[in-house]
Amino acid sequence: MFMIKIAKRIAIVLSIFLVLAFIIAHFMVPEYFDRQFTTTLTSAPTQPVSAQADKLHKTLTICDLHSDALIWGRNLTKKNSLGQVDIPRLLEGNVALQIFSVPTLVPKKKSQWGTSRSGLDWLTVASVVGWWPINSWFSLFSRADYMSEELSSIAKKEENFTLIKSVRDLNMYLTKRTSDKSITAGMLALEGMHPLENNFENLDKLFHMGYRMMGLVHFFDNEIGGSSYGLQAGGITKLGERCIQRMEELGIIVDLAHASDSLIDAVLQIATKPVVVSHTGIKGVCNRKRNISDKHALLICEQGGLIGIGFWRGAVCGDDVGAIVRSIMYVVDLVGIDHVTLGSDFDGDRCIIDAARLNELTEALLNASFSPREIRLIMGENLIRFLQKSLPNSKILSQDLQNLIMQPLSVAYPAAIICFYVFAEFIKHTHWRPFGLADFFGVSRFNFFSQRIGCENMCHPGQDSCR
Ligand SMILES: [Zn+2]
Repeated sequence: MFMIKIAKRIAIVLSIFLVLAFIIAHFMVPEYFDRQFTTTLTSAPTQPVSAQADKLHKTLTICDLHSDALIWGRNLTKKNSLGQVDIPRLLEGNVALQIFSVPTLVPKKKSQWGTSRSGLDWLTVASVVGWWPINSWFSLFSRADYMSEELSSIAKKEENFTLIKSVRDLNMYLTKRTSDKSITAGMLALEGMHPLENNFENLDKLFHMGYRMMGLVHFFDNEIGGSSYGLQAGGITKLGERCIQRMEELGIIVDLAHASDSLIDAVLQIATKPVVVSHTGIKGVCNRKRNISDKHALLICEQGGLIGIGFWRGAVCGDDVGAIVRSIMYVVDLVGIDHVTLGSDFDGDRCIIDAARLNELTEALLNASFSPREIRLIMGENLIRFLQKSLPNSKILSQDLQNLIMQPLSVAYPAAIICFYVFAEFIKHTHWRPFGLADFFGVSRFNFFSQRIGCENMCHPGQDSCR
């Protein structure tokens, strides 16, 4: 008895300890990692940008291909002291469109010489301590679903933020923005297609969640193909081939960031639409395994593709805005002005500047002798043009919406009719007859009462035997 009492007390103390640890972790751990991984590399310059650069910057339509801001659990509607992206900083930096990418599995042990998807995963830790829905602790598909809900709910609540899913959305938003610069927009992308969980059907579900661009792989080989950091770093799988075809049908942009050389080769063989490399450096300037080779950059752009230059040290081999400009300049010289854009990786790494300080990049581009027209293209208009050609138009969307509604209904209608008849027969042939329903099914109240007393065949109103 005494031992049971002691055991109970220990269990209570342990439970309290666990709950407290869970609460402390919730408030401390995400912020700790945020500080470690997303602090901006440079402080603001001592002198403000020139009036000329600032004037030009305010007229740009700025777009960026890649930010991981959604995974940190920050309130993106308020200006944060941590990280690099939130709505107030997008507005401050005059950003018209930020693509929000969703990584769903980031192995703790990762190496450019081979990374396995097994072992501790940072996003499992983030999902538990961040109190994400419990199914997202175990399912990558649920993580992608949860993140899409997060961005959708911001778009529903905030009047100054629009979620782009189609060409129509984009064009309507851009028209509105010509007279109102106090608005910004986002689009959803996936970083690695492992949330498919090996199920082709999930691709359409992810599309309906709002995902419009998909990085095929992230740090490890997955069911689609090889990663540049993967153990095998191989080409494309059969599932990958089916996915590329379906993505092109739906209007989901194929993103080759993080892909192995073999995967890039394979995709360029089968893709019939232009692809992007959303966030990368170029090997000709910064020879890192994860950066795109000059040969691949040329092939991608020959097919109409787009290269997004990253803002982190590993992408551009430098710590200042000048390093970003050097990579941009190199790629422009290599593939032409129409195929280069921004692929910052805000909140995915320690970037050189944050979204609010993009005017420093405009100034650095001016200083590097890019013309205002070229700066407009690099800072966003190339990406806008690409999206206008690549996103689904509303006709396809409404067709998809129709399918989404009609498919369940095509099952629901016959099922409802069968249920109705079964219920009607039940009412007619049993003794349970509520008044209204008995009338409704054509059975008189008289019959109802007569059946209850068991003399339905001999009773008539007014007869003595039925009183
Ligand atoms: Zn990445």
